[in-house]
Amino acid sequence: MGAARAALADGMIRVDVRSKRFGDTEVLGPVAFEIADGETVAILGPSGIGKSTLLRIVAGIDTDFEGRVERPERMAIVFQEPTLLPWRTALANLTLIHPELPEADARRMLDRVGIAERADAFPTQMSLGQQRRLALARAFAGQPELLIMDEPFVSLDPATADTMLGLTEDLIAEARPATLFVTHARSEAERLATRVLELGGRPARLLPAPSDPKGGLS
Ligand code: ADP
Ligand code: MG
Repeated sequence: MGAARAALADGMIRVDVRSKRFGDTEVLGPVAFEIADGETVAILGPSGIGKSTLLRIVAGIDTDFEGRVERPERMAIVFQEPTLLPWRTALANLTLIHPELPEADARRMLDRVGIAERADAFPTQMSLGQQRRLALARAFAGQPELLIMDEPFVSLDPATADTMLGLTEDLIAEARPATLFVTHARSEAERLATRVLELGGRPARLLPAPSDPKGGLS
């Protein structure tokens, strides 16, 4: 058994992508990393470099790649465009996805993300920032072990983006999922992440965030 892979610890994910192609075009070369629970990794890189593709692979949405991904069961995904049910209220968008969640808890979650008074509004009646808050509430309502977010603060005005970033930071600190999020903003990566995965160089480089006192690669 000496050479066997170590078992995956609770709440941890292990990603080993060797190649991802669309037709004849390789969009991702070798990229491997692990994320422990409570740790946040940011994927940083310019448009079109393969950030969303990597996220879909990690989430298990795209299974057409060479390599292997091991992930915990309880996962939440926050897509770049909030994927809300437009004909359901904000509250129903939470309780339909989480039928086990008591209504009082769902309302508390809406309050937590600052949209308690929008509980009976439909997503089309909400601003993009409010929709993003709802998507965040929905993600955390399931107490995910793995949280995946694709550019969750893009297209918001700077003040709203900053508030959302702080809110997300707090929610992650409380729930401590393994978090993987994509951004093209270095400031976001440095603020939220314990480590930063830069796509664009070959092979992809996993760097410690400047604030990481351990400074270790894995
Ligand atoms: P990013 O999120 O970093 O902007 P993407 O992961 O969306 O980049 O895309 C990486 C590359 O793969 C781009 O060149 C894009 O055009 C291409 N691509 C993405 N999805 C598909 C697809 N379904 N079919 C073909 N090419 C795709
Ligand atoms: Mg993208």
